[in-house]
Amino acid sequence: MKIAIYCGSSDGVNPIYKKEAKRLGEYLAKNDIGLVYGGAKIGIMGEIASSVMKNGGIVEGVITEFLQDKETAHEHITKLAVVKNMHERKNTMMELSDAFVALPGGAGTMEEIFEAWTWLQIGLHKKLCAFYNINGFYDSLLEFLSHMSKEGFLNKKYVDSLIVEDTPEGLIRALEITKNPLSKW
Ligand code: AMP
Repeated sequence: MKIAIYCGSSDGVNPIYKKEAKRLGEYLAKNDIGLVYGGAKIGIMGEIASSVMKNGGIVEGVITEFLQDKETAHEHITKLAVVKNMHERKNTMMELSDAFVALPGGAGTMEEIFEAWTWLQIGLHKKLCAFYNINGFYDSLLEFLSHMSKEGFLNKKYVDSLIVEDTPEGLIRALEITKNPLSKW
């Protein structure tokens, strides 16, 4: 199994974000689950990639030419693909992965997990999407999604299809046992 992880290019103010990213990285490596991510060395992104590598796992990074310097491409990962643009980066990450997981992050992280999730809704793939809810980071977003659904703009089955976990064991178990949700069309 290979998982795409979308997460912050920043560390966050609370050390728990880095600590938990490190813990998840260690768990992935020890359970032979490959990491696919944005290829950067900075923030939570760099933290999880370094942790997987340190524990003998496999990391595939996908970065764009123009972000190589800005986000400092990680030199010590299994494989780094340098692609032309953001669209190619997202497509490549989606193709390489069996599931998509968001750790805490900013607008870039949101954009990526929402694209993966909306593509599931319209049937472009059947892969699961998850929030790794460190420190309750995504509680207010999940509340808002539930509001969208209650107000009639989002079918509840898509909200229910999201996996929300806060331990490595819980996350991987949920990804393994959950059946692929139906697509919208
Ligand atoms: P952030 O969560 O804003 O720290 O960003 C996390 C990652 O998302 C960084 O590697 C950004 O380069 C990436 N990112 C930002 N915007 C986009 C986008 N439109 N498509 C793909 N990746 C993006």
